[in-house]
This record gives sequence, C-alpha cells and structure tokens, in this order.
Amino acid sequence: MKKFKNTITATPGTTTENKTGGWRTYKPVVDHEVCIGCDMCNKVCPEGVCFATGQKNSKGRIFYDRDLDYCKGCGLCAKECPVNAIKMVSDYK
Ligand code: SF4
Ligand code: SF4
Repeated sequence: MKKFKNTITATPGTTTENKTGGWRTYKPVVDHEVCIGCDMCNKVCPEGVCFATGQKNSKGRIFYDRDLDYCKGCGLCAKECPVNAIKMVSDYK
C-alpha cells in the first residue's frame, strides 16, 4: 500500500518562517498623522499584526502600523478605525 505524503499544508509551527501576506489583493496603509493610537486596529485584526510603533506623530500621539509580511488584507482594521486613518490600496505591483 502506498503511503500518503501531504505536500499541500505547511509543517506545523512554521508560521514565522512562512510569510502569509503574499496572496493579498489589497494592503492597509496607515496615515501616521491621522492615527490617534486608539488600539482598535490591534483589537480587531484577525492576524494580530497591528502594533504601536513607539514613534509619535506631530500631534504627540504614538501611531500604529502593521506587519505586511503577515497581513491578509481583510480590511477589518480600515473598517473599524474611528478616524479613517487606514486606506486599503491595491497590492499589485
Ligand atoms: S487588513 Fe486585516 S489582516 Fe491586515 S492588518 Fe488590517 S485587519 Fe489585520
Ligand atoms: S484604529 Fe486607526 S486610529 Fe486607532 S490605532 Fe489603529 S490606525 Fe490608529
């Protein structure tokens, strides 16, 4: 009997090696000057890739950004941002 070898799924525990943002259609772009650092994008992101940069904008607010290596482009962060600081733009090069 032939042994089945699964070559479709990734090996478990390799998430940090296999960047999962490659098949995205749109990517979120944050306007750092508009961001108020409310943390909402971090709360709603299903991938957990939104983070406080630790840097301040001209209004003295710590602005957020996202790790595009793992962002899937779902747009939830842009939808929920209370000040519309995030725009979804085409990720086709
Ligand atoms: S687009 Fe989706 S996956 Fe990407 S940072 Fe926003 S909420 Fe997270
Ligand atoms: S939801 Fe918008 S305003 Fe709040 S931290 Fe994220 S980008 Fe900034």
